[in-house]
Amino acid sequence: MTKEFIQSIKGTQDILPDQSQRWQALETTIRNTMDTYGYREIRTPTFERTELFARGVGQETDIVSKEMYSWTDQSGENLTLKPELTAPVVRSFIQNNLGGQSTINKLYYIDALFRRERPQKGRYRQFHQFGIESFGSEFPEMDAEVIALAMSVFNDIGLTNLTLKLNSIGSPECRSDFRNALRDFLKPHFNDLSETSQKRFENNPLRVLDTKAPYEIEILKDAPNISDSWTGEDKAHFEEVCSLLDAMRIQYTIESNLVRGLDYYTRTTFEITSTALGAQNAICGGGRYDGLVETLGGKPTPGIGFAAGMERILLALGDDDSSGNSTQVYIIGLGDEARPSVAKLAEDLRQNNIRTNFDPLRRSIKAQMREANKSGATIAVIIGDKELASGQAEIKDLKTGDQEPVKIKALVDHINSLTL
Ligand code: AMP
Repeated sequence: MTKEFIQSIKGTQDILPDQSQRWQALETTIRNTMDTYGYREIRTPTFERTELFARGVGQETDIVSKEMYSWTDQSGENLTLKPELTAPVVRSFIQNNLGGQSTINKLYYIDALFRRERPQKGRYRQFHQFGIESFGSEFPEMDAEVIALAMSVFNDIGLTNLTLKLNSIGSPECRSDFRNALRDFLKPHFNDLSETSQKRFENNPLRVLDTKAPYEIEILKDAPNISDSWTGEDKAHFEEVCSLLDAMRIQYTIESNLVRGLDYYTRTTFEITSTALGAQNAICGGGRYDGLVETLGGKPTPGIGFAAGMERILLALGDDDSSGNSTQVYIIGLGDEARPSVAKLAEDLRQNNIRTNFDPLRRSIKAQMREANKSGATIAVIIGDKELASGQAEIKDLKTGDQEPVKIKALVDHINSLTL
């Protein structure tokens, strides 16, 4: 009786060999760009205390209130698979006293995250992000560098059709002013708002601006603008970020509804979207969080960062069936006697960094030749009883079909001298 098959979990994906080449290329581009901009990698554990996210992301956010994979372990600790990476990186920054060792810390990560969202194209329950967190500078040149870095990664991997949306949500003082102005504006429209927005009106009115509902967007057209509540310093900071981006020839649009609800977010916020994607068109979101290190128990330290979704980037890049580097040499072994010679030759060639394969099924020469052609190899090496007796293997050029004998002892040197 066949056993029942155990499927993967909804919203998770296997990255199969045909796809992993694209992931590796993306990761290489990310690492190279990070290196160029002076960012160093940080890796944090897959799970943390639930409390870290409740405090670091915010109890009332969708992520914390609805989407976390949390459990209580055998000793009664409340743990959570990380649903985002800023809080763990800040936790590590504080715990390892990175701020004490260096005034500026420029960190990056490439990692898997877990959120119990409703799966759809571009939205998964386990997905990957790369991102950065830069600690230590409150000045606009840091904001501009962080944005330039994000755009540079996307450029280098060939993503076009991108829109960079930019805003400043000012300092916390400016925000309490704006919150009041926004509540005053929304009050007469309260009954027309969705249930979600009505709740946000009470808890966190800035988040009403996040709505995607067209009728609410229409209402919000006449809403007060956060820039009206900026302090003089907020305004000067934002203008300097803009002029630095202008100097770097980075195009952006100012989007006054781009806000973040939590108090530790300050000033610059940005989002990068791609027209190559459907409903889930956000590729990257970032901003300044000058209050977060303190919120999580560290010394007050300014910080800014972004996170970009890797599945979405690959979707936006479109299909590309590059399936990796193919085999260069295929060894065809015939008969029991040849097996040690085949194994030795394969090992010697591989030690010379030549991509080598052989048939582990002991099949006929015809079947092995078919496999050699399918593998994409440039040459096949044939070793059978006859070749062992004469000390000469046959090398077949799989493009031209030409064949020549080469001494078995000289095979590695000979193959090394070929352009494969
Ligand atoms: P966030 O951490 O929510 O600011 O998201 C940052 C980026 O991660 C987004 O712009 C998306 O590209 C990506 N992202 C967020 N949620 C998901 C998800 N459930 N599945 C795939 N990608 C996601």
